[in-house]
Amino acid sequence: MSKIIMQNPIVEMDGDEMTRILWKLIKDELLSPFVDLNTEYYDLGLPNRDATEDQVTIDAANAIKKHHVGVKCATITPNAQRVEEYKLKEMWKSPNGTIRAILDGTVFRTPILTESVKPYIPTWKKPITIARHAYGDIYKATEYRVPAKGKAELLFTGADGESFRETIYDFECPGVLQGQFNKDSSIISFAHTCFDYALETKQDLWFSTKDTISKQYDQTFKLIFADIYEKEYKSRFEASGIEYFYTLIDDAVARVIRSEGGFIWACKNYDGDVMSDMVSTAFGSLAMMTSVLVSPEGDYEYEAAHGTITRHYYKHLKGEKTSSNSIATIFAWTGALRKRGELDGNVRLVAFAEKLETACLQTIEDGIMTGDLAALCHRANIKKVDSLEFIKAIRSRLEKEM
Ligand code: NAP
Ligand code: MG
Repeated sequence: MSKIIMQNPIVEMDGDEMTRILWKLIKDELLSPFVDLNTEYYDLGLPNRDATEDQVTIDAANAIKKHHVGVKCATITPNAQRVEEYKLKEMWKSPNGTIRAILDGTVFRTPILTESVKPYIPTWKKPITIARHAYGDIYKATEYRVPAKGKAELLFTGADGESFRETIYDFECPGVLQGQFNKDSSIISFAHTCFDYALETKQDLWFSTKDTISKQYDQTFKLIFADIYEKEYKSRFEASGIEYFYTLIDDAVARVIRSEGGFIWACKNYDGDVMSDMVSTAFGSLAMMTSVLVSPEGDYEYEAAHGTITRHYYKHLKGEKTSSNSIATIFAWTGALRKRGELDGNVRLVAFAEKLETACLQTIEDGIMTGDLAALCHRANIKKVDSLEFIKAIRSRLEKEM
């Protein structure tokens, strides 16, 4: 059979450590034999980020704006220890942070479900997708450790002078202080991205904040969502048979636990950070979670939700066998290839992405899995395999599918 041709490229961002090893194996074993891969390659591995003074990350983000689809391998976010380990010129920023800042996106995280691994919540039948607003709030806050007695005020100086001043607290002793912000423009694009994603995936959209307590800040989020929904999406949601509703975050948490899944839960930045870890753990593991960053312009960046699996990499370097789960990284590729196929009207490419995903799930249903899944699976007759054997087992099923 002839290889599948891609009319347009996807932006390929290579990464670090164990996931970099998996990246190459996935390309060699599961992609290149079947697809004439057309990618624009950016090496986001830490040595090359250092060599290019992180310019490569900026170039990659701009390339996603140009080609609209990217796929990214997990990368190291340097800390002091990494600066030492890699002899870095600087403690470079998180590549995900840099890319998010350029694309201004919303991150959607969805667990990959299999029959073999049962969620901790027995009623959950379908995946719950968390849509995390990836801008502002405590991630861009200004903080101050109040040393002693004194008055803290909130002051706003408009273009034409001071227009707001209010006492936050008159400190009689040491304490803490924090100033957060967000922007209407960012909240508006967050709302649009969530409504569009709900329509695209035909799932209900829930949105939760704490507007009863935060009467200006969270209330603004709620009102912007409500306004955009009424004006631009209501009729399309009704026509698609899907629903949008707003509820308080505490009510949402209770409802999510009682639900059967199958919806998108839009969260403010911090709520989304915390809740996505809870949801992924309750469904099984971070190694079975996909992540896609969607920009307001309709650019898509796919990745795995986990990191570079450092502990496995050090074993690999010592020549020991590892049992790293490549599913989330493979699904990052299938997500990107499917999206490329949809944008280009490339039916063969879309079909390939489906078949590769089926082959992955089939492998696990056949009882062949990596150590992390074997530990969660309560079935008998499980064969625990190493990183390469797992990918080979997927390959043999993919060949049958093709
Ligand atoms: P991690 O790479 O996600 O791994 C933490 C642990 O989770 C692993 O040691 C392993 O447990 C398990 N695990 C994660 N993914 C797995 C997989 N695919 N298969 C099997 N087991 C898996 O997190 P980390 O060790 O905290 O971070 C390592 C590096 O990744 C850091 O430098 C961090 O900056 C970076 N990071 C990058 C991203 C990203 O690029 N999106 C996200 C998070 C972290 P066992 O050791 O028990 O087997
Ligand atoms: Mg988190």
